[in-house]
Amino acid sequence: MTDIRLLPSSVVNKIAAGEVIERPASVVKELMENSVDAGARRIDVSIEKGGTELVRVADDGGGIRADELPLAVASHATSKIVTADDLFDVRTLGFRGEALASVAEISHLLLRSRHRDEAAGCQLEVRGGQAGAAVPCGCPVGTVVEVRQLFFNTPVRRKFLRATQTEMGHVTEAFIRIALVHPQIHFTLQHNDRSVYDLPAVDSWRERIVTFFGGEIGQSLIPVASDDGQIRWTGYVADPNYSRANNRMQYFFLNGRHIRDRSLQHALGEAYRGLLLSGRYPIAFFRLEMPADLVDVNVHPTKLEVRFQDGGRIYSQLLSALRQKFLSTDLTARVKPAPLPADADPAGALDPTRSAQHRDELIQWAQGQLEGKPSSAGQASLDAGSSAEVVRPAVPSAAPSASPAQQSRLPLSFDRAAGQAPPFRPFPDFGAAIREPLRPASGQDKGHAEHGEPPHREAAQGVNPLCAPQSPAPMGPPAMSSAGLQVHNRYLITEDEDGVVIIDQHALHERILYEQLREKVLAGALEKQRLLVPEPVSMPPAEAAAALEAKEVMAQLGIEIEPFGGDTILVSTYPAMLANFDPHEVLRQIVESLMTGGGVPQRRDLLDEMLHMIACKAAIKAGDRLTPDEITSLLQQRHYYRDTHHCPHGRPTALVFTREELDKRFKRT
Ligand code: ADP
Ligand code: MG
Repeated sequence: MTDIRLLPSSVVNKIAAGEVIERPASVVKELMENSVDAGARRIDVSIEKGGTELVRVADDGGGIRADELPLAVASHATSKIVTADDLFDVRTLGFRGEALASVAEISHLLLRSRHRDEAAGCQLEVRGGQAGAAVPCGCPVGTVVEVRQLFFNTPVRRKFLRATQTEMGHVTEAFIRIALVHPQIHFTLQHNDRSVYDLPAVDSWRERIVTFFGGEIGQSLIPVASDDGQIRWTGYVADPNYSRANNRMQYFFLNGRHIRDRSLQHALGEAYRGLLLSGRYPIAFFRLEMPADLVDVNVHPTKLEVRFQDGGRIYSQLLSALRQKFLSTDLTARVKPAPLPADADPAGALDPTRSAQHRDELIQWAQGQLEGKPSSAGQASLDAGSSAEVVRPAVPSAAPSASPAQQSRLPLSFDRAAGQAPPFRPFPDFGAAIREPLRPASGQDKGHAEHGEPPHREAAQGVNPLCAPQSPAPMGPPAMSSAGLQVHNRYLITEDEDGVVIIDQHALHERILYEQLREKVLAGALEKQRLLVPEPVSMPPAEAAAALEAKEVMAQLGIEIEPFGGDTILVSTYPAMLANFDPHEVLRQIVESLMTGGGVPQRRDLLDEMLHMIACKAAIKAGDRLTPDEITSLLQQRHYYRDTHHCPHGRPTALVFTREELDKRFKRT
């Protein structure tokens, strides 16, 4: 053991900085909080290179007195508390007096300020903790802090910085967390001279929420309020048709400070139980106001988490406010997914017009079948397969062949110009998918211009299409082929040398598609469709950044995206297999899965994750009725691929009842 000694203050400050300043976004948060505490009416944030080059925050708040400027950047110097008791009565965002000192220790910092009572301003530079002299300067009342070269003297931290877009995503999220809860302040955000946000002061909180998250979510918001005389909740939750695959769109603000709190998230989840599919999270914006002495905000380095004196009380207050609200709000017209039986149509079941339309389409389709009329043009690239060679020559005799009937009823586009209704497609992707192995591994971009039809939209809002049950198929006698029998429109029954095999049609098809897709992606031969007009998709900044960071991997999957200013992304190509799905929904789902994993997944994992998603989406669903040919084809392909006994999610695709087992059960042995 060496001697114990006091650490020099520069080391102490670097340690403190390590806790508080993780990345440029942390600087943005600290500086903006100081501006809010200073009573600013306008706060301008300018960023260069995701904040790695420059973070500049200017405000028109009360300013700092010239003689106090050196103190502001000294550690443990604050104007916000005086005694330890004050720690339990914090009414400002800051109070530890370490933010400016920490940032100054690990950057080139310029602080310029003019106090509202003083005639002139004063400025001070600090480089890596070394403060220069304070010099007078002319400037308006308020404060400007410029932070350059963050982490220049802590190379390890600097190495952890990610791509500009990712850092900017975090910066934007930090900005939103503060700007969201202070609608009365005019905020602007600039990145490399481009204006990202300009948010004039507004009266209502809802208006600010809408500016950030769009009118669609704005319209779905249900106001919730509760006040027990001491603790006051006000806010909004989105109706259950709007949900997310993670809890990032749940904002809680305690006395104006953004916080994260598992128990509050849990209360929210409880209130929505039964209203959302599993794996979906509610959207919520809440302000919680309470006397400062009922909460300890000094328990987390960045104050993101707090400790309530009586957490149970706050939990139940939120839950009961939500429950009461839901009981008195007619959600039935809005709620689609949850309460339905597994094989019902989530979009259609509550909508008689749509069910009737399905029925009519079905009849039309059936008539078309009887007359032997092809219902509409099939997509060239997808239909080309019937005459093409088999991808797996090892079992050529078993290769499925698309029957004329199949070809005629798998239109992937329809003539909208002629005002025709879309033809009913009992198996939207089945034909394409099942004949997938028949298609030669042709070049990319097949099937775009010929039809020039952007993907057809039919994703139901709020339903996770990954597990969404599909339209009820007609029940009749079980469909049968020489290879097997379909029961309940969801299981296939067949035999093998060991016994009777019951197969989950969706799980098996998903597995097969996954394997096929993987081969194609590895061979660079996945078909994609170029959209006639690129589709703009807007999403929260952090998600847009994550999507752009995964751009190359997405391109491998046939999804080409590029930034389009603001938080909008342009989708220009799309996997042909997903032609029937809404690009917005697909992109959002991909991004949600990117974000849910936490951190940035390894490249391979990411690709794999997306393959799973596409396979799952494109596969036939439980509830899809199959033709004998389709049954044969699916059962045959079962033998071509590895691992077909489990779907990519790990669920079994088949159960086997061995002959011995059956004999035993029938008391034959
Ligand atoms: P804290 O916010 O915890 O007090 P900081 O290190 O962030 O600590 O800031 C130190 C002090 O500098 C603050 O207490 C405040 O008096 C002053 N200060 C910092 N930024 C501003 C600003 N934008 N306007 C006015 N005063 C500021
Ligand atoms: Mg502060």
